[in-house]
Amino acid sequence: MSTAPPAEPPPIILVTPTGQKITGRLPGRRQTARAWLYDVGLVLWKSTGPEGTEPAEYRQWVPAAHVKPVDGTDYSVVPTQHLRPPAPPPQWAWKVERQQHRGRAPGLLVHVYDCPTAPPGGEELNLDEALTALDRSGARACTECDAAVALSYWINSRETPDTDFGA
Ligand SMILES: [Zn+2]
Repeated sequence: MSTAPPAEPPPIILVTPTGQKITGRLPGRRQTARAWLYDVGLVLWKSTGPEGTEPAEYRQWVPAAHVKPVDGTDYSVVPTQHLRPPAPPPQWAWKVERQQHRGRAPGLLVHVYDCPTAPPGGEELNLDEALTALDRSGARACTECDAAVALSYWINSRETPDTDFGA
C-alpha cells in the first residue's frame, strides 16, 4: 500500500457565500477540537499586466459546511491531519482497583497510580495495560484523579468516526 499523496488532489465542490457551487480541488484536510477544515484550491485567473492573465490557484481553509463531496471520489487519499491531544507522559503509571458491589458483577476502576482514592499498593500498569483493563466490561476510569481525562481520548476515539466529511 502506497502512502504517497496523489499527484492531483481530488475534486471537491466549494459552496460560495452567494450559494454558487464551484468545483475545486482538495489537497488536504485537518481536524480541530470542534470541526473539520478543508484546504480548498480553486484555479482562477490572475492578472499579469494590463492585458495579460495566467491561471492561479487560490487556496482557503473552510469548514465542512462550505464544501460538498463529488460523488464517486475517493477522499481517503487526501493527506489528513487528525487531532491528537497531548498524550499522558509515558512515565505515568496506572492502577486498577477491583470493586465489589453486592449483588452485581465486580467492577474495575482505573486510577493514576498515585490517586488518593485508590487503595494502597497494587500493581503498576503502563498505558497499554491500563487501556486493556478499561476494555473489560464494567471497567471505567476514575474521575477523582486525572485518569478519566487523560485516558478519554483513547476511550472516545474507539467510537469516534474517522471523519465527518460530507455530513
Ligand atoms: Zn483515581
